[in-house]
Amino acid sequence: MNIVAYSEDPEYIKVASSYFSNEKIVAVSTSDTKYADELHLIDKMDEEAIAKYLASLKPDLLITGSTKRDKVIGAYAAGLLKYPILPDVIDISGNKAKRVVYSGMGIAELEFNTPIVVSISKKNVEAKERQTQKKNVNLEEGKVKKIEVKQKGGEGVDLSSAQIIVSVGRGIGSKENIKFADELARAIGGALGGSRPITADLGWLPEDRQIGLSGLKVKPKVYFALGISGQPQHLAGIKDTKIIVAVNTDKNAPIVENADYIVVGDVIKFCQEMVKKVGKK
Ligand SMILES: Cc1cc2nc3c(=O)[nH]c(=O)nc-3n(C[C@H](O)[C@H](O)[C@H](O)COP(=O)(O)OP(=O)(O)OC[C@H]3O[C@@H](n4cnc5c(N)ncnc54)[C@H](O)[C@@H]3O)c2cc1C
Repeated sequence: MNIVAYSEDPEYIKVASSYFSNEKIVAVSTSDTKYADELHLIDKMDEEAIAKYLASLKPDLLITGSTKRDKVIGAYAAGLLKYPILPDVIDISGNKAKRVVYSGMGIAELEFNTPIVVSISKKNVEAKERQTQKKNVNLEEGKVKKIEVKQKGGEGVDLSSAQIIVSVGRGIGSKENIKFADELARAIGGALGGSRPITADLGWLPEDRQIGLSGLKVKPKVYFALGISGQPQHLAGIKDTKIIVAVNTDKNAPIVENADYIVVGDVIKFCQEMVKKVGKK
């Protein structure tokens, strides 16, 4: 089977490689990876040019990551190849795939036939490193040109492997107030994350900090849910957490039922008191 894995984020290539450890993987990316037998390093970011290149490889199975651009390119390539798309897959074994359904309340197991385009979610996996043969590919000039690349997020502890996560929801009140949660995260060696309103909607935190159904699935030892109501779409991202500490002014918020410890009160006061207690302001 001709398997091609495309993503701008090499973590997705690693996940794809873990699903097909005994098959040859051809990766297409702007980033380096050790988890493919062949790596086609592309030099442009233009969606049309990348999709055309992916289609020219005539994959039986095209796996893409789940960044917004990955999905656009996957859909574009599927259109060119006239392949169906299976989106947001959380696990693959042979030709069986799992994906989250009903807003995180269930997991559907599906069988798929090739040729197909599958987009996968990020997760922590073990994958064997491969002898990667690299080649540079000069894509044809597209309509969009890269001017500059800026690192987004990047600061602090990596969310997907963090043992402690301090996560903020709309209850934090304002962008300026995020600093209180950030101070707490730094004081206890945790990573800062947030609900979808805080990341994707309001932009108070970068989008790669979003936890939940359409964001990251995390599994820390301790998860502080600060001013987060606990909707199923958020809970879908934290179900493998060991201990959930919910801080909320509403003692009937849905998160309360899912939390191990509940602090009924104001999120800013909680952050300030905690920082004082650990003494690392
Ligand atoms: C297809 C789909 C995918 C989605 N994916 C995601 C996802 O990946 N991640 C995600 O998070 N959401 C996701 N959502 C959105 C989700 O449904 C909720 O809207 C969202 O999780 C609510 O965010 P929140 O808890 O921050 O805000 P709210 O629901 O508004 O909750 C705010 C909470 O803060 C509390 N509060 C207010 N003031 C204070 C204070 N001073 N101190 C303490 N507590 C206070 C309130 O009592 C309330 O419980 C998705 C929705 C859809 C339809």
